[in-house]
Amino acid sequence: MVSEAKLNEYLAEIREHVCSRCVERPPGGPPCAPLGKVCGIELHLPKIIDAIHEVRSDWIAPYLEHNRHTICEHCAHNHTSICPCPMDYLATLLVEAVETVDERCADEKPPNPPHQTASYSTEGAGMREAAV
Ligand code: SF4
Ligand code: SF4
Repeated sequence: MVSEAKLNEYLAEIREHVCSRCVERPPGGPPCAPLGKVCGIELHLPKIIDAIHEVRSDWIAPYLEHNRHTICEHCAHNHTSICPCPMDYLATLLVEAVETVDERCADEKPPNPPHQTASYSTEGAGMREAAV
């Protein structure tokens, strides 16, 4: 579970890099809910962060599939006229925003003490491609 402070950090990044590109953004938004615009990003933010952390892929499809399974299947707006919402079709930007915060936080952590062995992964080295 993500802390309130951390959630705000993710939200700030999402506002800057996802909401700024959203064609459904109402005048004066975000936040959009008070303006009558329903969006999964505001409805399900903690679940979105957890769902993205549960996937590691260079491709957007596994993230989309996992979001739809863990979030959309339980969303009260699933299969209504407002669905899919920007949470779904802006998923590429959304995943990038969350992982940008994660990388920034990892960079801020102190390096491993000398007695620990650093581990390396080649995951994440390729381009992530949009499914839409
Ligand atoms: S509709 Fe969703 S993605 Fe668009 S500006 Fe509002 S919160 Fe952001
Ligand atoms: S895409 Fe549809 S089901 Fe998924 S969060 Fe948005 S409104 Fe809800």
